Amino acid sequence: MPIAWRASGWLGALGRAVDALVFPWSCAVCGADGSGGAFCESCRAGLLGRAAAASRLACPRCALPAGPYADLRGGCGDCRGRSLGFEAALALGPYEGGLRELCLRLKRDRDAWLAPWLAGLWAEARGEAFDRLELPADAWIVPVPLHWRRHWQRGYNQADALAHGLSRRLGRRVHTPLRRVRDTRKLAMMSATDRARALRDAFRARPARALKGRAILLVDDVLTTGATCAAAARALKAAGAGRVIVAVIARTGKTGQ
Ligand SMILES: [Zn+2]
Ligand SMILES: [Zn+2]
Repeated sequence: MPIAWRASGWLGALGRAVDALVFPWSCAVCGADGSGGAFCESCRAGLLGRAAAASRLACPRCALPAGPYADLRGGCGDCRGRSLGFEAALALGPYEGGLRELCLRLKRDRDAWLAPWLAGLWAEARGEAFDRLELPADAWIVPVPLHWRRHWQRGYNQADALAHGLSRRLGRRVHTPLRRVRDTRKLAMMSATDRARALRDAFRARPARALKGRAILLVDDVLTTGATCAAAARALKAAGAGRVIVAVIARTGKTGQ
């Protein structure tokens, strides 16, 4: 496993290059040596296969896995008729197995190197669906920010790292108009209603002429109840943004989890 290179920029890149020479890649999922990248061929194929199967069953509006015979017109049974704050959501796959492990690792700054690889998988698996949404070339890629205190404690924001990875793949630029003005901890312990309440007003976006009508690809690692992305999307729209599409690595199976 690559050792932690905390340096950023060229020094970090040089570190990672030396790292790859001295410590040949081992697969981040199964640990097999000589994978030549973050994932060995078989784990990569597995992740892409599960992503393809999941995308056929996913709700186009909230990305929740739905049954094979579900009626997804206007959303799934869970989101239909409910305002989400964003127009559509695309997840690489469900929050389980290898993808869940990768998301958990991505929260640690020493595993930030996984972000471009996961962004690469996302672009490969969901690129066509993304293209069908016809986001203009001048759309902004916006990471969901952490509260400054949490960012400082964690050392980095995984959503930032994913946003930069997606930016390289999708040819849209990263902008950071959002601020997280409330430290909303322990969301996982709360019910969906309590989450939504805790997240209300958690984000602010500076109104700016450049944001007016701007299409946004809002990036986060995991979509659980959707309350975080909904609050971030509403803050962006309150500041003038247009359509907001959510891109996440993993989607949990049930809201309220
Ligand atoms: Zn593997
Ligand atoms: Zn839905």
